[in-house]
Amino acid sequence: MEPQVIHDPSDDSAWETALAQLDEVAELMGLAPGVHEILRNPKRALIVSVPFRMDDGSTRVYQGYRVHHNVTRGPAKGGIRYHQDVTLDEVKALAMWMTWKCAIAGIPFGGAKGGVTVDPKQHSRAELERMTRRYASEILPFIGPEKDIPAPDMNTNDETMSWIMDTYSMNTGYSVPGVVTGKPVSIGGSKGRAGATSRGVMYMIFSALKSLGMSIDEVSVAIQGYGKVGGHAAQLLHDAGCRVVAVSDARGGLYREKGLDPEAINRQAMEVGSVAGYPGAEEITNADLLELECDVLVPAAIEGVITVKNADRVRAKVICEAANGPITFEADKILNENGVVVVPDILANSGGVSVSYFEWVQDIQAYFWDEEEVNDRLRLIMERAFGEVHSLSREKGLSMRQAAHWIGVGRVAEAHLTRGLFP
Ligand code: NAD
Repeated sequence: MEPQVIHDPSDDSAWETALAQLDEVAELMGLAPGVHEILRNPKRALIVSVPFRMDDGSTRVYQGYRVHHNVTRGPAKGGIRYHQDVTLDEVKALAMWMTWKCAIAGIPFGGAKGGVTVDPKQHSRAELERMTRRYASEILPFIGPEKDIPAPDMNTNDETMSWIMDTYSMNTGYSVPGVVTGKPVSIGGSKGRAGATSRGVMYMIFSALKSLGMSIDEVSVAIQGYGKVGGHAAQLLHDAGCRVVAVSDARGGLYREKGLDPEAINRQAMEVGSVAGYPGAEEITNADLLELECDVLVPAAIEGVITVKNADRVRAKVICEAANGPITFEADKILNENGVVVVPDILANSGGVSVSYFEWVQDIQAYFWDEEEVNDRLRLIMERAFGEVHSLSREKGLSMRQAAHWIGVGRVAEAHLTRGLFP
């Protein structure tokens, strides 16, 4: 039976986008229908109820998820997201993208993702710790250094990973640092992990500019999302000589044609919890930021921010997708027609999982590297991946996204065909 290719352009959900991207490349590359059908479905998905005690003694219950999309090439790997809009479909999409991402980077992991439908701003640190430990306990049968290794994502961080590592270790009776990545260095984290996704994004921007014959100096960059990825990227790009003209977070954005000073913005964000309201810059909305005249646009917040509704108004020359899935399937076509070069998420933000892989390797070997070594190896992986994707896109006349999917899906398909279908 032929796999069904269903995509309604009005459907902008992350899962529909992920499926449409897979279906498109499956057709382009002539993927075996059986493998295509396997890859359209997550291998396993766990839905858990997460009850925990509030500070006032009452009980709160949220829904949590952990999805393994594919583990044919190695253990499942992917972040854990805390957000009020988390759904099973969103987690499935993010897990699928992790599968392709690991394959493109040449990392021996499969794809996973997790999430809890919670607005973390509504909770104290103590409540979040109790919720995290209960969520970790509920997904315990799914995770482990040989099975599935979680990491931070939106609204989770190194502290969240410490709680999960500790909960897992308390259950096994000994310390298991390799169960999560993105941990603090004091308990087996890797040097360079905190800024790895952003550093990788920077390498990908430079590679894209080079391929277009553009110089790095004075290039203007607009960044949506000022969290772990966007905030670090602003600083790194600024330090490298780029002009960061706009930044934003969930509460609003800033624009300054001459360039913003990320250090000063960091101070303000630490003090008031947002970049919005920073003096000395023009206030803009998130919608304005996406349509700014600039060289490079870096969406670094959430999915589905560039859709058929605004894609035609995007004026950046290059979009480097630091976030997962910021451009819907149909919007991507419009950007391509308009000549915007899109460095796709599954390539652009793979610096995070690459250094997570280094962290896991270091944990297993109990032998730790210095930061220079981590950064050098990261650069090597990412520049090689960019080169492979770029060459294939040239050779076959594909977009960078199609070429990246072709390589990622192709490697996973090859592993399936080599192993054979059980039983
Ligand atoms: P984070 O929680 O540290 O930061 C998210 C930022 O986005 C915050 O500034 C928040 O205010 C902003 N934001 C949230 N909703 C928004 C909205 N509707 N409009 C504008 N801004 C909004 O998260 P992060 O870890 O930096 O992740 C950001 C993106 O990068 C996500 O898509 C994530 O999946 C992706 N990513 C993260 C990593 C990683 O290592 N953390 C790796 C690969 C990909």
